[in-house]
Amino acid sequence: MAKKRRSGGRTRGKKGRGSLVTCSFCGKLVPREKAKKVTSTVSVVDFRIRKELRQKGALIPTTKVLKYACISCAVHRGIVKIRSKDERKR
Ligand SMILES: [Zn+2]
Repeated sequence: MAKKRRSGGRTRGKKGRGSLVTCSFCGKLVPREKAKKVTSTVSVVDFRIRKELRQKGALIPTTKVLKYACISCAVHRGIVKIRSKDERKR
């Protein structure tokens, strides 16, 4: 059968079966090497107050949140884009 991608859409290399992670958006169980990692910074302070505080020179702490997205959620949210046939093969 023809292969759509050289890696099969995964990043595992020659490893065998890996562990599963839950998609943060739809709750689907996906292999860790197939899921897309999404990091975002989240602040506890409201954005209007944050802007005012920053103008006065205050340091506002932010925390990084790691999320996993399954392929269908990643395409839907624009994390990955659909590529043409020759672009995929590279
Ligand atoms: Zn999902």
